[in-house]
Amino acid sequence: MRIGVLAVQGAFAEHIRVAEELGVECVELRQGRDVEQTFDGLILPGGESTVQGKLIRELDMYDRLKEKIADGTPVLATCAGLILLAEKIIDSGTVHFGTLPAVVRRNAYGRQLGSFYAEEEFGDLGKVPMTFIRAPYIEEVKPGVEVLARVDGHIAGVRYKNQIAVSFHPELDRNPVIHRQFIEMCGTKNR
Ligand code: GLN
Repeated sequence: MRIGVLAVQGAFAEHIRVAEELGVECVELRQGRDVEQTFDGLILPGGESTVQGKLIRELDMYDRLKEKIADGTPVLATCAGLILLAEKIIDSGTVHFGTLPAVVRRNAYGRQLGSFYAEEEFGDLGKVPMTFIRAPYIEEVKPGVEVLARVDGHIAGVRYKNQIAVSFHPELDRNPVIHRQFIEMCGTKNR
């Protein structure tokens, strides 16, 4: 199994470390030709969504990545990655992939106070550690989107078809349950 990790900016190295520790080969997606390879899953890391959104277009990765997501390739999106997937970003006219029927608010906890740690239930995985860094939250989900986690009353994790999106950073905590569940999804996708 091979997982493509968007590696233009942000916390991609940490995702690669976790996935490799779980025995999965990773490919760094840095430019247009990288996304032409075959991979069974896609990780969109945290970082700065405006920068990532600009780079995926400038580096000719946008169309192919969007096609793969729409085609059913399993995606794990964290923090800025969630913003890239969202159908609507509050106070912004920009939409990136727009494949996740949800409305997100960037820097939703305030720019300075936006970093904190919590432990909350996540889907059927029990309590998981959650590190938030200038995190967005999901303000609204459309029908068909399953809410996996709430923190302080705000939606912090969802699943929609092949897309898992969280507002925190599971790659920074020593508990790889979310990655493991994602990797299982990658292994079971019908091709
Ligand atoms: N604040 C960032 C953004 O809006 C997201 C932060 C993160 O990925 N840790 O893109």
